[in-house]
Amino acid sequence: MHELSIAQSIVDTVLAVAAERPGSSVATIHLKIGALSDIARDALEFGFEAITRGTELEETLLEIEIVPIIACCERCHTEFEIHEYSFQCPDCGSRDVAMTQGAELDIDSITLTDPGPTPICNRESTHTHD
Ligand SMILES: [Zn+2]
Repeated sequence: MHELSIAQSIVDTVLAVAAERPGSSVATIHLKIGALSDIARDALEFGFEAITRGTELEETLLEIEIVPIIACCERCHTEFEIHEYSFQCPDCGSRDVAMTQGAELDIDSITLTDPGPTPICNRESTHTHD
């Protein structure tokens, strides 16, 4: 179950970011996981919960967005979404396609809450991608 070590590295990264803003707490972690990344979402959520229990990240919301698999045809350069692992160009039928998206595991954004107003910096805004 490698999701546990992935969850641990996410926690490490987030704590490092939060450490740069003393007094703030992490409200939301927004993750992007490629559909081909071989990560079980449930296991990742479970691992995150297990690791953060009793820590400052216990109340942190883990939002996971599954990113579709996108490939580009090497022959006609059509970009298309892969369904059911069918790596074939819908335009010219070529199987010479390169995956451009779908295997990633990115921390897309981290939302911090500040206990009080910050005098110098702008407050972190919440990014939504709808
Ligand atoms: Zn093509």
